[in-house]
Amino acid sequence: MGRNVIRARPHLSTLDPYEPGTPVDQLIEAHGINDAVNLALNESPFEPPAQVVAAVAAAGRRANRYPEDGAPRLRAALGGHLGVAPDAVAVGCGSVDMFQQLCLALLDPGDSVVCGEVSFPEYWRTPRFLRAEARRVPMDGLALDVAAMARAVDETTRLVIVANPNNPTGTVVAPEALEALLDAVPEDVAVLFDEAYADFCDPGRRPPSIEWLSRYDNLVVSRTFSKALGIGGVRLGYLVADPAFLAEVAKVHLPYDVSALAEAAGLAALSDEVLAIIEERVALVRAQRHRITEVLRGARWPLSDAQGNFTFSPTSRGLELAGWFLERGIVVRGISSIGLRITVGTPAENDRLCEAVAEFSAANDVAAYF
Ligand code: PMP
Repeated sequence: MGRNVIRARPHLSTLDPYEPGTPVDQLIEAHGINDAVNLALNESPFEPPAQVVAAVAAAGRRANRYPEDGAPRLRAALGGHLGVAPDAVAVGCGSVDMFQQLCLALLDPGDSVVCGEVSFPEYWRTPRFLRAEARRVPMDGLALDVAAMARAVDETTRLVIVANPNNPTGTVVAPEALEALLDAVPEDVAVLFDEAYADFCDPGRRPPSIEWLSRYDNLVVSRTFSKALGIGGVRLGYLVADPAFLAEVAKVHLPYDVSALAEAAGLAALSDEVLAIIEERVALVRAQRHRITEVLRGARWPLSDAQGNFTFSPTSRGLELAGWFLERGIVVRGISSIGLRITVGTPAENDRLCEAVAEFSAANDVAAYF
């Protein structure tokens, strides 16, 4: 064992595995921390609503049966929720699954995708499995430079990816700039708006992307149940796009990638009752993001204009800073040589964070860290 005599595709030796960030439970155990606060992974800090938990339990009792492939009931519910036809929606095992399906449907070796230099790492990792090139376009400060991204498109390009809000910087692109991008990109090149964090945007900062689908046949919108809807452990994400294109994408999907339990959780999450709870939670997270932003600003931390469920401070000392907070039982995400990302927690968790920020400022020369 361990000699690796099986010949895998040689190309794989040049690729990195997915980096999930150290599991928070492991960190907590390794540091012997009681009462740790997990602000590292941009998850929802709240237990899922009871209706969702009950729906998963009920589906578990029928788990001897396969689910319906393609989760048609969930697609229909999402179609109703978004005001589009069910066949304009494709559901999968998280939005990472949908991104992989999109790449499998679009990319041949030698093709390219265009994305931001500082963005969600799957955008460059997945195309490389397929021997496609990822063009990471330099940022405009901490924001995606969509004009430069449009200029990076050439005849090899099959996909342009805009995370809006972006991860890890949290920035959003103004609707006019998004429209200019859609107008500039050739119509046979897909433009993906990854809206994993869009629910957390301040009023007026979220583009009407679902409406734009009727104007731009090459627009693909990606969303997830993992962030605002708060069920990252369930694994559900979806694309909204031209039904004719999604019929092609469906050919590469893994059969039954949405489990019966996941479909039940998704249907329960879209009930009016649960959506009302989610709306309140999202408002709370947004208000807490404003609160944390004020505290960090007051402590002279540089910040991006982050619109997700997190803040982002540019620094080359993010890992060191994350280590300092970890020693105090607060798990935040240092992003090597780029910055420090802090997920918004519950108000009590954010109290702990704010106290630690005050302690840090009192004990250190803040300017030396940023
Ligand atoms: N898109 C972005 C921008 C993300 O940050 C993440 C995960 N943090 C995802 C997609 C993946 O989310 P999921 O697979 O849980 O839907």
